[in-house]
Amino acid sequence: MDAKEDSYVDSGRGLNNPSAIVEELKAGFQRFLEGQSAHPHASEARRHQLAGGQHPQVALLACSDSRVPVEVIFDAGFGDLFVIRNAGNTNTFGSAGSIEYAVLDLNVRVLVVMSHQGCGAVKAAYLKEKSFSASLTELVTDIKTGLTNHGISTDDLSSYNDACLRHASITATSLMNTSAPILDAVQNKRLMVQPAFLHIDPLAISWLPPLYGRG
Ligand SMILES: [Zn+2]
Repeated sequence: MDAKEDSYVDSGRGLNNPSAIVEELKAGFQRFLEGQSAHPHASEARRHQLAGGQHPQVALLACSDSRVPVEVIFDAGFGDLFVIRNAGNTNTFGSAGSIEYAVLDLNVRVLVVMSHQGCGAVKAAYLKEKSFSASLTELVTDIKTGLTNHGISTDDLSSYNDACLRHASITATSLMNTSAPILDAVQNKRLMVQPAFLHIDPLAISWLPPLYGRG
């Protein structure tokens, strides 16, 4: 096995300490930043190996925003990340159910919830006059309610940058509060929930306090 294949998270390698897995994600991001991406796990052999089943160690809920290409920035390949994306990396039935599958059936050890600079879905929570479709209204209302419940006023845009950052932790908390399987996994240390914030320009990630255990 060459260094490239060894350098990324993979349950097949027995790496199951959540903190160590997050360090692997950070290392992948650093490789990308430095122009040293290894593009791991893209080989035909890897795809053949995975045909019988996937064993990712990381689930990742991110925004659908085209500026957040998660496999690219984490230098990940086939079988590495179980990715859920929607506008505003929001807690919906779809995202919660997908994460529950990843936790209960795939036994992922880490859930990254990543928000980002300049999120349009978060900004929509500030728009009072604009009318949205029913589905979009529900999504935007969820974001707005989360911000309001955490003391972030959406009356004017002065809080917008802070809201984009804190939305990651707010969604992480919301998932735990509304999903018994996710809460149970976190409390019993089968799952670490790691909120993160992606700065688009210059590209950087702020890793926010993780949720792990009963504390
Ligand atoms: Zn966004």
